[in-house]
Amino acid sequence: MTFAKDFSTSITSADPIVAALIAAEKKRQHDGLEMIPSESFPSKAVLEALGSVFNNKYSEGYPKKRYYGGNEFVDEVEQLAIDRAKQLFGAEHANVQPYSGSPANAAIYFALLERGDKVMGMSLSQGGHLTHGHSVNFSGKYYSFSQYGVDKETEQIDMDAVRKMAVAEQPKMIISGYTAYPRSIDFKGFAEIATEVGAYSMVDMSHIAGLIAGDSHPSPFPFTDVVMSTTHKTLCGPRGAMILSKKDDPLREKYHPESKLGIAQRIDKAVFPGLQGGPHNHAIAAKAVAFGEALQPSFKIFAKQIVKNAQALAVSLQAEGLRLVSGGTDNHLLLVDLTKLGVTGQQAETALDAACITVNKNTVPYDVRGPFDPSGIRLGTPALTCRGMKEQEMQDIGKWIGTVVKNWNDPAAIEKVRSSVMDLTKQYQMYE
Ligand SMILES: *Cc1c(COP(=O)(O)O)cnc(C)c1O
Repeated sequence: MTFAKDFSTSITSADPIVAALIAAEKKRQHDGLEMIPSESFPSKAVLEALGSVFNNKYSEGYPKKRYYGGNEFVDEVEQLAIDRAKQLFGAEHANVQPYSGSPANAAIYFALLERGDKVMGMSLSQGGHLTHGHSVNFSGKYYSFSQYGVDKETEQIDMDAVRKMAVAEQPKMIISGYTAYPRSIDFKGFAEIATEVGAYSMVDMSHIAGLIAGDSHPSPFPFTDVVMSTTHKTLCGPRGAMILSKKDDPLREKYHPESKLGIAQRIDKAVFPGLQGGPHNHAIAAKAVAFGEALQPSFKIFAKQIVKNAQALAVSLQAEGLRLVSGGTDNHLLLVDLTKLGVTGQQAETALDAACITVNKNTVPYDVRGPFDPSGIRLGTPALTCRGMKEQEMQDIGKWIGTVVKNWNDPAAIEKVRSSVMDLTKQYQMYE
């Protein structure tokens, strides 16, 4: 009996149980309508890089400065990812090693803040992220967060209110960029407020990075100090993240008078050896592929179509009588307030799941219900746009969603929609 690893048998025969689960998940993704706004379908090339032998290599350190031998190709692929990321966003510095968005945000705080420092971020219940200061998260425990929200009337960010809070609180960092905010973000306004109060400006563009790369949302560059992005949302890359930043530290004298380091060096030290060990080189290779795709002219058309699709979906949902938080969308996502329909976010999510339309329940601003069964659902168009769907499909899908949420208790109505979904998705093959 040989002890050597089997390098040739494919998973189908090597582990039929896991292989069957992969096949089932592939079919689920293909048959249904994936409308969770943080998800997308990367190209086959991205998935191939992820499944490559770069997985096998240890390379603690950075290109040309490693603690391990044998890194000539790892160096090249990481440098390529760095160069492409910088080019894509016009950034001075890029670190492509963060394992995912949450650890990348931790690295930024670790690089620029001390424990207990004051930070401003949007609360989770109004559209922010857990890592922007929620009390159950490390960010809320280790740093002193002041949380802003949206205006109660417009359900949009009121920049005057943000400025007032910043002046009153005098934070060391101000974060913008969200997970459930359907409107365009005034990154320039945030950077100006940060400059005014002597705070670092940080943007978490995880959700909208693809739109920014594709010129369909204003960019936080070059004026923002430090920008985090996941690579697996609208950027359509592998699960992972990156941190882009200025090279120098404009607030060094105020906050780090003893130090010679710029923001770029602080970030690199915080990611490794501050928080992480060996980089995930298979993910970094896949990031390089995804950034290369995003640099192509066709990516701009793709990004534009994501927004067009979201707007077409908005019109269709409103025609069904659904209320959209803030009255519409400027980006890839929509937040639907179901309160008036007498159905909860959980009931809607479950009914839509039964119709093979995947969304997630979500709080709406000033929600009177709790996060486990909130008043809304959040949906988005990136994944469907990856499949090539356009406004006409969005119009149909909006009608179907309206039918399901209004008939969430009627299995026959849901089954009818499910069968229409199947007919539609059959025409959009993926991962052949
Ligand atoms: C998705 C997201 C994150 C976290 O990314 P993970 O990879 O899930 O850890 C952080 N911030 C924002 C705004 C996000 O949308």
